[in-house]
Amino acid sequence: MRALVKERAEPGLWLTEVPEPDYGINDVLIRVRKTGICGTDLHIHSWDDWAAATVPTPMVIGHEFVGEIVAVGSNVSDFRAGDLVSGEGHVVCGRCRNCMAGRRHLCAHTIGLGVNRPGAFAELVSLPVTNIWHHWDGVDEDVASIFDPFGNAIHTALTFPVLGEDVLVTGAGPIGCMATAVVRHAGARHVVVTDLNPYRRELALRMGATLAVDPRERDLADVQRELGMTEGFDVALEMSGSQEALNASIASMAHGGKLAVLGIPSGGGVSLDLEKIVFNMLTLKGIYGREMYETWYQMSVLLQSGLDIGPVITHRFSHRDHEEAFAVARSGESGKVILDWTDV
Ligand code: NAD
Ligand code: ZN
Repeated sequence: MRALVKERAEPGLWLTEVPEPDYGINDVLIRVRKTGICGTDLHIHSWDDWAAATVPTPMVIGHEFVGEIVAVGSNVSDFRAGDLVSGEGHVVCGRCRNCMAGRRHLCAHTIGLGVNRPGAFAELVSLPVTNIWHHWDGVDEDVASIFDPFGNAIHTALTFPVLGEDVLVTGAGPIGCMATAVVRHAGARHVVVTDLNPYRRELALRMGATLAVDPRERDLADVQRELGMTEGFDVALEMSGSQEALNASIASMAHGGKLAVLGIPSGGGVSLDLEKIVFNMLTLKGIYGREMYETWYQMSVLLQSGLDIGPVITHRFSHRDHEEAFAVARSGESGKVILDWTDV
């Protein structure tokens, strides 16, 4: 079958022929229709230190997808050929304390699709049946292909109650933009978004931000004055991985404010102003992945109740044009970039 592969431990990706994936008695085999390009894929493409230390080669990459089931293992009775599905890209161990308690998103032995096991940028992908999410008839296929990062956005945005609250989103990448739409849909009052990139700020406004500001040009105290906010932000969603953004969030929270941190700092750790965290009685929560499967349920019902994340998808390419698609995804002049595999 055709797949986009990290063949060798060096920068680049190769569209090539590889054997079809095996599937076991508890697995399903899926014909991929659309895939989304994630920052992780960009790291693997450029072969940075993280990728070199993490990804064995050769590896079929990619983990954001929608596709149609073509075959199921002999133990699988609740899915059938033709079902339109996406997959949770974190394959958990099933045996640790957290898994056994039903807290699978907290598993410490997660295997990553397209990182540690063959991924979805391919004609076919195989996954355990416990990782499969069945879409409803009529779902927008492009939106279905980005349930993975949409789930990151929902998991972060709904970690703390936002009804009537003033919410700060730092970082208007695809995930920050989707989180903006989610907190708006969930009844936040003001949704202030920061990003250095004007394209991304514009996208955040289209996704429902009250204001989108360049933090180098305007400080958040000034923004709060403009909006007539007398308290600080109630909830902050950190989605940039930037030290400056984290500092600005912590400094502009109301006493008792809550920060959900999804952004991953590039090049190691960041420092925290513990004095402000203690005296202002802030709560910080780290967010990784999606809750299995409450987040997936929330994604489906919020879309069905009118949440529109369509504008975050800004580019669509055939998988054949993967080089151009990756360049656009890397440029910052894009939201989500979708690859089409229906024309293999
Ligand atoms: P992205 O890189 O496309 O977006 C990050 C945005 O932050 C960019 O638009 C950038 O311009 C902006 N930014 C940089 N410095 C800033 C600053 N000082 N203030 C405000 N904005 C700033 O990433 P994405 O795909 O939207 O993902 C968001 C973050 O979440 C990334 O850090 C990513 O690594 C991380 N992530 C975490 C998980 C998880 O499970 N924890 C999963 C996926 C992605
Ligand atoms: Zn586990």
